[in-house]
This record gives sequence, C-alpha cells and structure tokens, in this order.
Amino acid sequence: MSEPLVIVGNGMAAARLVDELTKLAQGRYAIAVVGDEPRLAYNRVLLSSVLSGATASHEIELKPASWWRDRGVTLKYGCLATEIDVGRRELRIANEENIAFSKLVIATGSMPLRLSVPGADLAGVHTFRDSRDVDLLLALAAQRKRVVVVGGGLLGLEAAYGLARGGASVTLVHLMDRLMERQLDLPAAELLKSLVERKGIRVLLNANTARLHGENRVEAIELSDGRRIDADAVIFAAGIRPNIALAKDAGIPVNRGIVVDDDLQTGAADIFALGECAEHRGTCYGMVEPAYEQARVLAQHLAGRAAVYNGSVVATNLKVSGVSVFSAGDFMGADGSETIVLNDARAGTYKKLVVSDGRLTGAVLVGDVGDALWYLELIRGRQPIARIRPDMMFGRSLAIRSEAA
Ligand SMILES: Cc1cc2nc3c(=O)[nH]c(=O)nc-3n(C[C@H](O)[C@H](O)[C@H](O)COP(=O)(O)OP(=O)(O)OC[C@H]3O[C@@H](n4cnc5c(N)ncnc54)[C@H](O)[C@@H]3O)c2cc1C
Repeated sequence: MSEPLVIVGNGMAAARLVDELTKLAQGRYAIAVVGDEPRLAYNRVLLSSVLSGATASHEIELKPASWWRDRGVTLKYGCLATEIDVGRRELRIANEENIAFSKLVIATGSMPLRLSVPGADLAGVHTFRDSRDVDLLLALAAQRKRVVVVGGGLLGLEAAYGLARGGASVTLVHLMDRLMERQLDLPAAELLKSLVERKGIRVLLNANTARLHGENRVEAIELSDGRRIDADAVIFAAGIRPNIALAKDAGIPVNRGIVVDDDLQTGAADIFALGECAEHRGTCYGMVEPAYEQARVLAQHLAGRAAVYNGSVVATNLKVSGVSVFSAGDFMGADGSETIVLNDARAGTYKKLVVSDGRLTGAVLVGDVGDALWYLELIRGRQPIARIRPDMMFGRSLAIRSEAA
C-alpha cells in the first residue's frame, strides 16, 4: 500500500518536489497536494512577464492537469489548510474533511509585507504575489492610473515596469539610497536607476513612507520628509514574510521561517518543510533556485536515499524592468578581497568581480550578463583563477583561450 504523503501549498517548491519524487519512487507514496490558490501550480517568477504583457497567464502553468493525474496525485486547489494535528497526523482544510498523512511537507511560501503605516488598509492598496494580484495590476495599467510602488527591490521594480508598460503613470519610492541594495553595489544600482528612469518610471530614493491619505480609497502617499505624491493606487512591494502560521500553531519550532535540518525535517517527526517558508541554518531564501535544490534533496530523502542539503549559494540572474542584472556571492567585497571593475555608463554596462584568496567569490553585472553562469560556476566551484584572471573580466571565451595559449 502507498504511504499517504500530503504537501501543503501548490507552489513552485511543491511542484518540483512531486516531479523529483515521482521520478525516484513512483507509487511509493499516495501524494495529495493542498493549495489555496484557485488554479494549478504555476511559475510565479513569470508573473512579472505576465504583468509586462510578454506572456499570457495561461502559459505559465508548470504542468498540465494530465501530468498530475498520470502520477496519481490528488490535487486540491482553492483549499486553505487551517491546522496541522501533529498527534493525530491529520491536516484540517477549511470547509472540507481532514486529510490523514503519514508524512507531511509544508511548502506554503511567503506572504507580501504590508507596511504598518496609517492608511495601509485603504481600498486601492495592493501587493504583488499571485496571479490575482496581477489581474488587478493589469486593470490599473489599462485604466492609465497614477500608481505608487513602495519598494525598490526586485518585486517593486518588476511591478513598476509592468505597470508603466501597460500605461500607468508610475512612481517608485524606496527607503534606501540605492535600488536592489541586497544584490547590487552603488555603481550598479545607479546604472540600473538611470536605465529604469529611461523607461518612464520616476524613482525616489531615501523615501520613507509615513502614511497613506484617502477617505475610503487611497488618494496620496506621504513621505516622512513631508513630500506628498498623489496616487489612485499603491502597491506594497517592500518584502516578504515566510508563511509559518500553520507550523507555529501546531507547536513546530519556527524562527523567521519553519526551522529545518539538513534533511529538510522540521522539529516534528515526519513533517518536513521546503521553499520560502523554510529556514535552514538561519537562512530563509526568497528565490526559486534554493527551493528547487531543497526539493531535490527532500525527494531523495523521501525515496530512502542518502542526501543532505548544505545550503545554497544565492545568485540573482534576471531581467529587472527590462534590464539584465546578475549578482552572486560576496558582491560587495569583504575586507581583504580585491575588486576588478569595468564601468561603461553610456553603453549601460557595469561589471564587478570580487577575488579573494585567488578565487572568484562574488560578481555583479548590469547590462551584459552573457557570462553570468560561467562566473557563477567559478564562484560555486571555488576553483583557483590565477591563470584566467587577466582576461576573466572579458568573458569565458577570451579567458579560456588565453589559458590554453
Ligand atoms: C512577481 C514575482 C517575481 C519573482 N521573480 C523571481 C525571480 O526572477 N527569480 C527567483 O529566483 N525568484 C523569483 N520570485 C520568487 C519565487 O517565485 C519564489 O521563490 C518561489 O515561488 C518560492 O516557491 P514556494 O513553493 O516556496 O512558494 P510559492 O510559490 O509562493 O508557493 C506557496 C503556495 O502555498 C500556498 N499556501 C500558503 N499557505 C497555505 C495554506 N495554509 N493552505 C494551502 N495553501 C497555502 C500559497 O498560496 C502558494 O500558492 C518571484 C516572486 C514573485 C511574486
């Protein structure tokens, strides 16, 4: 008899886990996936592309219904899980009967943060996390509304770009002195800002949101320095918080995320967590690649094979507001490291490589990211780079050719 394995959350980590697990141990588990979004699992990363009009919403499904059916997976979408009964090994679902499990995987992702400022709960204040949000944002753009996006990280930039492309008049306000400060150093962020402004987006830095004004609907945003920006809508894109409530209420240990060990096991026997809701060695990842690496390890573990998750080297390799950006490793350059920089603002290109102990330890690229994956391999592989160092900045083909010469 197949063992009942229940996965809570039908997002990207869950879909990848089912994919990996059914390749390794088809039939070993009777898998059920419970997710509260009202559609099949989709590629959340491509929501930006849907918002910018490059991709249709129905094209971003990760797998068709037949794929899930062929693997014998019971899919319950549009279903909110409300409680884990650890003792009885049951998952409670709103308005449905409980599901019994022998093993449970929590893959509930994150929720967008709403700033706790006066007016944050007015109508017209939205977030950017799922496909329902995208439908709302597309409607705002089509009506050519004045929109303020709060947050100059990846999500804020993507929201601003999509809205502006669709016809909205967009102001992006960011608390820090530079965009994407978690991924970019100052010169890279300044270049990105100028490229984003060229797309018609107004960018305000050092801009602390103090309150939102409006009777019933939002009408304006006020910054702590007194500046006021009129707005028909405000989008909060100022960070995410792991969805830990189910675990916490069940008495499963949590910090910022649900604490897991190197097997992705939580503090409760036979209950695992992965993806954005999980915290491994003190880190909650907000990107999809670590979630996929965790899915691979957990699938092996569930299939009875030895596998350990040691954490991920996070890299950002994206098109942000139509501009290619890559960042990985120690991109700021820790004490004792050296940096090699090429900065051509007119051409819209910036490259910075960080070298420490004869190895590449970090990189930032804006504009030309053609060699990003090669740099990432060098960082992850910790290979000595003395022989390729003179030409490393100019890309893989030149560096390899000079190494061979
Ligand atoms: C617009 C956007 C652009 C992004 N771009 C990038 C990018 O370029 N690169 C990158 O690496 N990452 C990007 N990300 C982040 C990436 O999408 C996430 O890292 C990834 O989706 C995490 O997968 P997950 O399965 O942990 O969470 P999710 O994909 O969020 O899935 C979690 C699912 O669980 C459901 N759920 C939560 N609680 C319950 C409950 N109680 N009961 C039932 N279901 C529940 C949620 O509704 C959701 O469907 C982007 C995210 C967004 C929003």
